[in-house]
Amino acid sequence: MALLYRRVLLKLSGEALAGEKKMGIDHEIVVNICKSIKKCVDLGAEIAIVVGGGNFWRGRQSGDMDRTRADHMGMLATVINALALADGLEAQGLDVRVQTAIAMQAIAEPYIRARAVRHLEKGRVLVFGCGTGNPFFSTDTTSSLRAAEIEADIIFKATMVDGVYDKDPHKFPDAVKYDTLTFSDVLGRQLGVMDMTAASMCRDNGIPVLVFSLQSPDNIVDAIEGKQIGTLIQ
Ligand code: UDP
Repeated sequence: MALLYRRVLLKLSGEALAGEKKMGIDHEIVVNICKSIKKCVDLGAEIAIVVGGGNFWRGRQSGDMDRTRADHMGMLATVINALALADGLEAQGLDVRVQTAIAMQAIAEPYIRARAVRHLEKGRVLVFGCGTGNPFFSTDTTSSLRAAEIEADIIFKATMVDGVYDKDPHKFPDAVKYDTLTFSDVLGRQLGVMDMTAASMCRDNGIPVLVFSLQSPDNIVDAIEGKQIGTLIQ
């Protein structure tokens, strides 16, 4: 089957790697995600991943701590996840590079846009760690920023829910799922699918976002082939 999207920015939250435990890394889940990414690469897709850190630490939930320091800790948490993903992807036989927004040359390349694009063109999977490198931002915003920089066709936001709903489907059984939305809907109605900074960056730069569930990791393959899943925001 032909690919609908060639260059994809895949956003994985930290929680997506943790599974039921919601903390730390579940090795089996990482393996399954990496197997699906391998299928996408075999189909000819270029995959860049932004990974969150919420399975270890979130700056905004750090109570009385100095926010900048707490966010530094959060960015370091994303690097742990980036390395776990790199390991899982390499185990699938993929060529992988990790680039971090804060230089830590002993364990990863620094983020350099031209090199990032070159890696993708060569069929390497790219994992971005450290978010944007700045406190007060999120890895959702990082996804919008990196997607714009590398000229990705779309952002895949793989979550624990199978799309965007009008209200929390865990709390309200009558919640209705949207198949499509505009960024103005997301911003105007403050739908909590992504933070407002990320949504406005995507809107301003014309980057669509497909939100879908990672409960079945092969959804990543279905999404890249353009099958009807999740909620498409554009
Ligand atoms: N973070 C940051 N700047 C960034 C991206 C992330 O300071 O550009 C920090 C922030 O503390 C955040 C944490 O890293 O809470 C983990 O990222 P995020 O909350 O987006 O992870 P997710 O919820 O997707 O797992």
